[in-house]
Amino acid sequence: MTRPRWETDSASDRPISPAYPKQAFEGLSATPGSSQQRAKERRKLTKAACSSCRQRKSKCDGKRPACSTCRTKSRTCEYMTEEGVSSQSAYKTRLEDYATVLQLLKRADSSECALILEDLRGPKGVVDGVKEVLDKWAEHE
Ligand SMILES: [Zn+2]
Ligand SMILES: [Zn+2]
Repeated sequence: MTRPRWETDSASDRPISPAYPKQAFEGLSATPGSSQQRAKERRKLTKAACSSCRQRKSKCDGKRPACSTCRTKSRTCEYMTEEGVSSQSAYKTRLEDYATVLQLLKRADSSECALILEDLRGPKGVVDGVKEVLDKWAEHE
């Protein structure tokens, strides 16, 4: 049984390309020129400062396992980067790791989520916690 296809004429008398005012979109797009892109491309392998020095903007000699500043001020010294890895590439890997953990949390059911969170919140630092989670949970394809 074939039915006649009636043309829907309601759409035809609308303008195909509506002229949106340009200003309407300007606020929505990401504004360039923010502080994000300050260092262009530094290929120098700089010793990464530890987290507390970075936070306090104090000078860090990058010594492991604890830098001199942290040692003298008896702070907890934690590094977000692996030794010998440039802070740029370490930053990228770290972001990827975080994204993977978020994906894991998204896919996991609630009991698995609890376990993952347990690992994340363990006595280790955030970075090590993330690594532990990835070791345990990430499927390496
Ligand atoms: Zn330091
Ligand atoms: Zn330190």
